Amino acid sequence: MMIIRNRVLPIGRRFSAINICGLLFVKQSAELTPELLTHERIHTRQMTELFIIPFYIIYVAEWLVRVVLSGGNLFGSYRALSMEREAYRYQDDPGYLKRRRRFAQWRNIQKAP
Ligand SMILES: [Zn+2]
Repeated sequence: MMIIRNRVLPIGRRFSAINICGLLFVKQSAELTPELLTHERIHTRQMTELFIIPFYIIYVAEWLVRVVLSGGNLFGSYRALSMEREAYRYQDDPGYLKRRRRFAQWRNIQKAP
């Protein structure tokens, strides 16, 4: 995974990295932990199987729907996203991508941790 350190990411203080088409932009101050890398690799896999642009469309659309349904809970809606639930659930498991099934983000719907 290509990693680009950046000082000026417009992603808010709760986030340390953003994955844009498989390129990982990481805040200067952020620690690159194995969990972060696995989390982002899971997103890259999700993107690849959705041919990238649909990934972002679905991601943003699901987030907007959840924000409305939750009455404006921006961060909770982010954590509840299908893509994020899968990434957070398995970020501690470096072997996960080897056994991951296609479209696992929709096969294994569970509550956000
Ligand atoms: Zn994520």
